[in-house]
Amino acid sequence: MTRGQTGSRGVAVLGSTGSIGTTALRVIARQSGRFRVAALTAFANSTLLAEQAAATNPGYVGLVSPNGAVPPASWHTGASSLVEAATRSDVDIVLNAVVGAAGLDATLAALEAGKRVALANKETLVVAGELAAAACARGGGEIVPVDSEHSAILQCLGRRDRSDVARLIITASGGPFRTWTSDAIGAATLADALCHPTWSMGRKITVDSATLANKALEVIEAHFLFGLPYERIEVVVHPQSVVHSMVEFVDGSVLAQMGVPSMELPVLYALTHPERVRDDGVPRFDPVAHSPLTFEPVRLADFPALRLGLEAGRNGGAAPAVFNAANERAVGLFLEGKMQFADIATSIEAALAQFGSMKAGDKSALLAADAAARAFVATRAGRS
Ligand code: NAD
Ligand code: MG
Repeated sequence: MTRGQTGSRGVAVLGSTGSIGTTALRVIARQSGRFRVAALTAFANSTLLAEQAAATNPGYVGLVSPNGAVPPASWHTGASSLVEAATRSDVDIVLNAVVGAAGLDATLAALEAGKRVALANKETLVVAGELAAAACARGGGEIVPVDSEHSAILQCLGRRDRSDVARLIITASGGPFRTWTSDAIGAATLADALCHPTWSMGRKITVDSATLANKALEVIEAHFLFGLPYERIEVVVHPQSVVHSMVEFVDGSVLAQMGVPSMELPVLYALTHPERVRDDGVPRFDPVAHSPLTFEPVRLADFPALRLGLEAGRNGGAAPAVFNAANERAVGLFLEGKMQFADIATSIEAALAQFGSMKAGDKSALLAADAAARAFVATRAGRS
């Protein structure tokens, strides 16, 4: 990895105004000897972006959608600012904290340009896992996950060969509806869904954690990151969110990575991997205070979005992209009060039935499947 003149590594923080983006800026500020902010991008929050730019003095600032505001002349605008930020020569690491498939082009471009992508934007791998692998192979880039479960798995794997691994066990908090009956879940309100028991996150992933669609996205993400078949990736509910995931090795030994539910460590580790550095901002773990730790089977029948996502992953082709696009659109409508909670899963199911077998040979085919699924979900919601 290249180092800038100061010896620090330049980081482009894409989605800097969001939950992961603001965490990343705190981590980088604490580690200012090692990392510097080289570029920032946000969707529309120009006020916070301006504050961040003033505090970190990056060489590039991008605002995707100025929304009527007049940004400073030195800023860049439009969706192309993500790829521009991600491929700059003063950028060593691209921390992709954009939400949704909108982050795809920047991930692929950064990998082609040989960068490390510290990837929070799991949708990238769900939509185009094979394309990301090909971009790594061509450009020499690498993906290091930010998602806490995948960071845990990476830390448990260490330098071991994949042939030593029997299975991955991904933990799920179970979300706000873990103990609710199926009928009650179907009638859940937006306020219910946004009330996550253990994690404070952006609105889209918070809803995904209530439907458990997030866990399906994470299983697909793990499949592409670690190269294991789906039958060797399991999900278990762990309400305390302290064991971030586990790896079982062929001899039966199980390693787990643990810690307080906080994204400070996964973000830090994605920047420093495989090194570990001292960081006082990572909350310390007290085993007694966090007792007891419990595990439960996942209720697949009551969380159809999870079942549909797992099936889409196993079916492959365009199905994961359709699953993701239908989910993104349905969650968007749910957040706008235009869709019931239970309709998120029924929309996904209908979209997969229509478009799940579409062609998936290249990026344009995947984007066509993505667009068809989004349009279908919106039209279907408008009819009901
Ligand atoms: P968020 O909504 O808080 O932030 C999203 C960021 O992306 C914002 O800066 C926003 O301006 C930007 N953005 C949104 N739409 C965009 C678009 N179309 N083009 C460009 N930029 C856009 O979301 P978050 O919770 O920080 O999550 C970001 C990503 O990280 C998601 O993929 C999520 O699944 C993943 N993730 C989040 C957490 C968490 O704790 N928040 C944990 C694991 C993974
Ligand atoms: Mg996660």
